[in-house]
Amino acid sequence: MMSDAAFLSRLREKLGTTGVLMDPAQCESYAIDWRRLFQGKPLVVARPSNTHEVAAVVALCRDYQIAIVPQAGNTGMAGGAVPDASGRELVLSLARMNTIRSIDPVGMTMEVEAGVILKTAQDAAAAQGRLLPVSLAAEGSAMMGGIVATNAGGLNVLRYGMTRALVLGLEVVLPDATIVNGLRHLRKDNAGYDWKQVFIGSEGTLGIVTAAVMRLLPQPKDSVTALLSVPHPQAALDLLACVQSELGDSITACEMMAGFSLGLVEKHFGLRRPIADGEWFVLIEAASTLSGLREATETALGHALQRGFALDGIIAESGRQAAELWQLRERITESEGKEGKSVKHDVSVPIPLIPAFLRAADEAMARLLPGTRINCFGHLGDGNLHYNILVDRHTADEVNVVVHDVVQRFGGSISAEHGIGQYRVAELDRRRAPEEQILSRKIKDAIDPDGLMNPGKVLPRKSAHGH
Ligand SMILES: Cc1cc2nc3c(=O)[nH]c(=O)nc-3n(C[C@H](O)[C@H](O)[C@H](O)COP(=O)(O)OP(=O)(O)OC[C@H]3O[C@@H](n4cnc5c(N)ncnc54)[C@H](O)[C@@H]3O)c2cc1C
Repeated sequence: MMSDAAFLSRLREKLGTTGVLMDPAQCESYAIDWRRLFQGKPLVVARPSNTHEVAAVVALCRDYQIAIVPQAGNTGMAGGAVPDASGRELVLSLARMNTIRSIDPVGMTMEVEAGVILKTAQDAAAAQGRLLPVSLAAEGSAMMGGIVATNAGGLNVLRYGMTRALVLGLEVVLPDATIVNGLRHLRKDNAGYDWKQVFIGSEGTLGIVTAAVMRLLPQPKDSVTALLSVPHPQAALDLLACVQSELGDSITACEMMAGFSLGLVEKHFGLRRPIADGEWFVLIEAASTLSGLREATETALGHALQRGFALDGIIAESGRQAAELWQLRERITESEGKEGKSVKHDVSVPIPLIPAFLRAADEAMARLLPGTRINCFGHLGDGNLHYNILVDRHTADEVNVVVHDVVQRFGGSISAEHGIGQYRVAELDRRRAPEEQILSRKIKDAIDPDGLMNPGKVLPRKSAHGH
């Protein structure tokens, strides 16, 4: 098409040839999501190297009415970062914007561009004795723009909160190509609407996050990692409450895993659980800037064992052993992939209701698909479970409805941390109160009136509603 040729030539003028990928082989990795569920076809992949280039791409797309799909590390679990199959959507990759602009160990902030890999940002902060607490198994590939755009959770939410709690300032490019610079390094800023909150977790549907100011914390000097087996989920909760009473907010992570989940990791990665078998396992990490943490943890876990909340346990003797224990947790998702197809759920329920939720969900699944294998693990301390059913994906819709019905009954959320992307759009639309969906639509229409920012993600495409 003529207009495509003109658009592409103007895009090349703005970004140079290195900033524009068109060859299908080069575009391939941008076209499919990490889970390989959503295969799209980009019109072109644009790779701007700074905020002004991002704004130039957005302006051009507005002029030609081309939809934009922002993409950072492409590790998202909800298909949000890949284009549809029409061949009409531009993928805007932030990967070249990978500068750490500053680290301030006194003010405890760091300013990063959207394409900085999370692990790189963590390491840079650590080199200055500071902690960037967002941590997840994809941290070697996920990028800060994606982390902010999905309001990522991960392993340390229990103590430090989700990404939202750590973002102090944002720079964004709006759909009309305006650059809004809100990169303030402030702990306290109550001046007017806190507009950045709307962009955190918006999954690319409102604008492009080009840079962020993140809050840092002191790097703990000491950390203790323990793996325990527990007889049932209620015991896991009792264990958590017990150690929380004794160790307070030193606990940074509390992960629960079914024995079945560890079995998958053992099978596919040859790792071994170092304690006696159990139906469920809990991985606890505590960290502190003060000394005496190990003794305190030993005492707390001793009490939990005495009270029957745990059956067996081990405290890592070295950093290496701690890393090995974490591997048991972090390899679960990959092991599940190696085992075969699955229907994933990323749900949250009020923490005390976890045992009852699991009973109800297991019963509902047994009725729908008797004998189905369930890979359940998650962030116990956040009430967030990955309740994954190992079945062929052709039953996905049915399975989703059954599991999400139970979630809804327990007052939970159908997306605790992975977002909505394209994967959960219909489910969210069906289950959210109409007033909430209408409000969300008003926000979207106010900021992106042409609907060019990541259409069909988070909210249904307008045409799907007939207007
Ligand atoms: C093995 C594994 C483990 C994971 N564990 C966790 C976990 O524990 N907790 C958790 O929360 N997530 C987890 N995830 C999901 C994923 O890593 C996070 O959602 C992460 O934040 C995505 O970052 P990304 O850079 O890969 O973003 P992408 O996948 O590239 O994008 C994600 C979404 O954000 C949008 N986006 C990306 N960059 C921008 C930008 N600069 N501006 C505007 N929009 C943008 C995209 O359009 C898309 O909708 C895991 C993923 C994997 C593969």
